Amino acid sequence: MESIVNKKLILSITAVILVGTGSFFIYSTYFRSAGGETTTQDSTLCAEHGVDPALCPFCDPKLIEAKGVCQEHGVPEALCYQCNPGLIPGFKATDDWCKGHDVPESQCPL
Ligand SMILES: [Zn+2]
Ligand SMILES: [Zn+2]
Ligand SMILES: [Zn+2]
Repeated sequence: MESIVNKKLILSITAVILVGTGSFFIYSTYFRSAGGETTTQDSTLCAEHGVDPALCPFCDPKLIEAKGVCQEHGVPEALCYQCNPGLIPGFKATDDWCKGHDVPESQCPL
């Protein structure tokens, strides 16, 4: 009888631990997968600019030449904040942001 009670206790403790780590795991994987599309804080972003390192033209200026010009917006594709809103923290981090017009200073029409 006593051993059954102990087993039940151990089982429920294990279940609590499993549920706890399980939800943490789901939580962290959710944010990891969402990171590619949103601008949430993520440890996979480049620390200096808060931009996906694979897309960060501030870390890798070669991207600017490699990607060419954005036909739609007439600016270098790698720097086009309209096509890549994830770049915006990078402009702000490099002090290239026009607060008055909410555009990168280097792309501000005025
Ligand atoms: Zn960067
Ligand atoms: Zn564009
Ligand atoms: Zn401006």
